[in-house]
Amino acid sequence: MQRFIKKILLWELIVGLMVTLRYFFKPKVTLNYPEEKTPMSPRFRGIHAQRRYPNGEERCIACKLCEAACPALAITIEAEPRLDGSRRTTLYEIDLFKCVYCGLCEEACPVDAIVLTRNHDYHFENRGENILTKEKLLAIGDKYEAEIAADRAADKDYR
Ligand code: SF4
Ligand code: SF4
Repeated sequence: MQRFIKKILLWELIVGLMVTLRYFFKPKVTLNYPEEKTPMSPRFRGIHAQRRYPNGEERCIACKLCEAACPALAITIEAEPRLDGSRRTTLYEIDLFKCVYCGLCEEACPVDAIVLTRNHDYHFENRGENILTKEKLLAIGDKYEAEIAADRAADKDYR
């Protein structure tokens, strides 16, 4: 009989609506991403970037320490000396399909050239876009340099 009355009154529906009502006036825990974002650590390891010095010269000196440190063999470097005797890369590529975002390349770099940025919401639309070339890395570095420099400054006591 009790079951029959509950069926008539749509009791389960009422209980469900009461739960909705209870949470309706509570503070919201969801965010309207991407307009709203959660706080992020300055150590966050997102997509990579290559940095330049303030005079525009690329920092990377082609020492290949990042390539040696990478556990996923995701970095490929080719290098040769310039006419002025300085050593620079002729090819620097990171395969993002292999990368495990461990940050060891960043740790290994003696001149703070290769870094991982906070940018994590990127995507690929075409085959081959998973390969980050030197040009792409430098372009990302140019775009996010202010944020990268600020993050490094905030974390300098722990580096
Ligand atoms: S983050 Fe780790 S896996 Fe990715 S390129 Fe750097 S060292 Fe390799
Ligand atoms: S990014 Fe840094 S560690 Fe890698 S080759 Fe260039 S200078 Fe060396």
